[in-house]
Amino acid sequence: MHQEVHTHNIVERAYAPEVADLLGRFDRRALPDFAGASFEALSSELLSFCARDLMIMAPTGTGDYRYEHFGQDIIRFVGCDRTGGHVTQMRPAVARFTIACYDEALSSGKPLYSIHRAVKTVRVSLWERLVLPTTCADGQRRLIVFSKPLQFHEELLTTVLDTSPAGIVALRALRDEDGNIDRTVIITANRRAAAMAGLAGDALVDREGRQALPFLADETIWRRCLYVMELRRNDMFEASYTVDGRDLWLQVALAPLGDGLVMTLSDITELKLANLTLQSRAATLALEIGKERATRRALSHELGQREEREQELRRLAETDPLTTLLNRRSMIEKANAEIRAAAALGHETSLFIIDIDHFKRVNDTHGHPAGDAVIRAFADLLLGQMRAGHDLVGRLGGEEFAVLLPRTGAREARRFAERLHKCLRRSHLPVSETLDLQVTASIGVATRRADEDFGALVARADKQLYRAKDEGRDCIRCAEDEIAAAA
Ligand code: GH3
Ligand code: MG
Ligand code: MG
Repeated sequence: MHQEVHTHNIVERAYAPEVADLLGRFDRRALPDFAGASFEALSSELLSFCARDLMIMAPTGTGDYRYEHFGQDIIRFVGCDRTGGHVTQMRPAVARFTIACYDEALSSGKPLYSIHRAVKTVRVSLWERLVLPTTCADGQRRLIVFSKPLQFHEELLTTVLDTSPAGIVALRALRDEDGNIDRTVIITANRRAAAMAGLAGDALVDREGRQALPFLADETIWRRCLYVMELRRNDMFEASYTVDGRDLWLQVALAPLGDGLVMTLSDITELKLANLTLQSRAATLALEIGKERATRRALSHELGQREEREQELRRLAETDPLTTLLNRRSMIEKANAEIRAAAALGHETSLFIIDIDHFKRVNDTHGHPAGDAVIRAFADLLLGQMRAGHDLVGRLGGEEFAVLLPRTGAREARRFAERLHKCLRRSHLPVSETLDLQVTASIGVATRRADEDFGALVARADKQLYRAKDEGRDCIRCAEDEIAAAA
């Protein structure tokens, strides 16, 4: 409970204008030796002009004080006449404070000024008191107490209403014969609320609620107000409306009050606009991000396709279109690379060259397309006999093929050649649905010598091939056999 006690600079501290005058009169009636003023003289003087604000208190000698006079204005605010009653009948906190002040004034013989918060009074929030100690002619002590409301609740409320950044409106429900609310009347509204409704000052008071407050025209909002009044429950929501062509946003808080409600209105227009701007920026951003993603996807698709095309082109450039074997150029390239790697590791490499015998006759007898079919079928057979992913099989041109055998010595190379030769002897090469042909081939084999490149190796294998042709075709000739024979 707020309390203040002052014994100095009372005039400067007091709010009631009467205080200075009362102190002057006290001084003029002062008695010596802590007796205060003369009771008879001061009381008759003060009661003559401000009895309504005075109390006369007599100490009981038991630590309490009795009311001998209780002013009319004080009765009005307190709500009862305490004359004859005692200070201890008040609430303990107020009684204790009051008795302490009175005791001090009596013992010092000097005026005392106090302020305390009202505990029970309905309208008053703060009281101020001037306590004047006196002594009667018969030596008894009395206190003359000037007591005035320093602040009223209404003042507090008015100040709160007037300075609130929120609009505040109190509505009273007006009911029809059946007890249903059909209208409301505004009983209190602050200036801010009036401004929000596009009106000045207290222009809202006494007007019909829905006519005066633009956002109450909205059926859903009005319905929520009705619920608050009927169900006596709080509610809170956002509402938008237009004043002077400007869109405004409100946050509305509703609370039931009597048979009506109190509405607190906060202008959130700027917040809302900022939010909308942010949202639209976010949407634009999302759109741009989406566009960029689509572009990136298209680009990566395009890149993927280009890579596929390039791969396809590379494959086409490397392969012989008729047989899909390596063509001459890539056979040379790959074989040279293979030979370099094998040489570095000290591995042997062998090569054989196969040429179909009397192929010209196939063309002459069955036509060029049939010849193509034989070349194709021959290539398939060759591929089938060699080690996939290990041996390099290429078409050097016409009906002449080369097979490079990495990590393969002369003996093994010869075995491969023999196996192939045998297989060819057993095979019928399909030409069309009704025709297949048997062909023979001559094979020349050579195994790489140190420092030999692919060209030199081919030359030696070729030489063996021609030997095979010379020596009757349909046979195998190996460079190594020739060397051995010569030795
Ligand atoms: P040899 O036993 O001596 O090798 O006799 P050959 O008839 O097989 O050899 P020659 O070099 O005399 O003839 C090869 C023929 O192959 C000549 C050419 O018209 C034919 N030829 C070359 N390339 C192709 C092709 O891609 N398709 C077809 N159908 N024929 C081809
Ligand atoms: Mg030939
Ligand atoms: Mg040939």
